[in-house]
Amino acid sequence: MNQATEKIYDLNSELKTFQARVLQCVPKDGRFSIVLDRTAFYPEGGGQPADRGVLNFANILDVQEKDGVIYHMADRSIPEGTRVSGGVNWPRRFAHMQQHSGEHIVSGLAHRLFGVDNVGFHMGETSLRVDLSGELSADQLALIERLANEAVWKNLEVKTWYPSEQELEKIDYRSKKKLTGKVRIVEIPGFDTCACCGTHVTRTGEIGAVKLLSSQRYKGGTRLTMVCGGQALLDYGERQNNVSAVSVLLSAKPMEIAQAAKRLLTENADLKRRTSALQSEVFQQKVNSISQDCGNLLAFEDDLTPNELRRFAQLLSEHCSAAAAVFSGSDSEGYRYAVSNGLYDVRPLAKELSAAFSGRGGGSKELVQGSVHGTHETIASFFQQKSFCLSEI
Ligand SMILES: [Zn+2]
Repeated sequence: MNQATEKIYDLNSELKTFQARVLQCVPKDGRFSIVLDRTAFYPEGGGQPADRGVLNFANILDVQEKDGVIYHMADRSIPEGTRVSGGVNWPRRFAHMQQHSGEHIVSGLAHRLFGVDNVGFHMGETSLRVDLSGELSADQLALIERLANEAVWKNLEVKTWYPSEQELEKIDYRSKKKLTGKVRIVEIPGFDTCACCGTHVTRTGEIGAVKLLSSQRYKGGTRLTMVCGGQALLDYGERQNNVSAVSVLLSAKPMEIAQAAKRLLTENADLKRRTSALQSEVFQQKVNSISQDCGNLLAFEDDLTPNELRRFAQLLSEHCSAAAAVFSGSDSEGYRYAVSNGLYDVRPLAKELSAAFSGRGGGSKELVQGSVHGTHETIASFFQQKSFCLSEI
């Protein structure tokens, strides 16, 4: 049984390097599990990911805590008793501190202003997710975001301490009311007081910025996605790159791309309508050029959509009062088809086609659609055997 590890990050989250002694080092899952007498490595917990870093020449790839003992998963072993120097991967940890402290301010404001609680919290690589117990409107979220940033600008001291049991009774802190024993309190004066085991910035100014990215209804509450500090800057950069690219493509000012995109979509819908009308005219002219007693017809057409295939097949079949099969595609990529007939059930034909050309398809008695793998020639010969005439139109 290992002794509880002294958590030196607990009251000093700014510690980047530290000295310690190896108490245990055992192989585990292809790595080495190392227990130290003290550590500045934060183990995964409370929604915050584990730290990474180095212990002498070993890379620390994961850190977990069990019953007060912290296990450092290393890529090489270090003999028990060795005095080691540890270094925490600081950019990564500082990003976690920015996210976590920003989350406390947002959750604290949601609780104080609107009486909703943080019921779930996950820190991802690029953003942070918070689940709140009640639904919040866009206006309420905008207010939270504005006040959260004011808390950042005020550069308030973030206080972390272990109150005595008597002191704890008098503190009105958010969540985890049921906790007993040593409770660690993290306070951002005027904004939040919460029981938490995570690492936090020393002053709120270090959070840099708090930006709510999106919200959605989730299990009767609100699921928020947000970013803070460095992640907010990265996120801004990525959005800016995208906006700039779209702005160039649409020849619109960056702040007017939504309007420009809307115009483009309207124009596109108009074009589709006009193309479809023209296509119908072309189909009609082609159909009119065919004699009405031509019998069953097979036609190959370039670049038809499934809708167009269907319309053309129906027009042909009505005109000739017979079956009409229309194919579009290429020998290399395969063909899509539609077969229409008002007189007899065309579904068995679709089955035969699928079997003969390893395709798939189906539909109603009057109309089947599908796709096949075959060549122009083999498809034509299949239909000729079924007394279809190849249309020359
Ligand atoms: Zn926390």
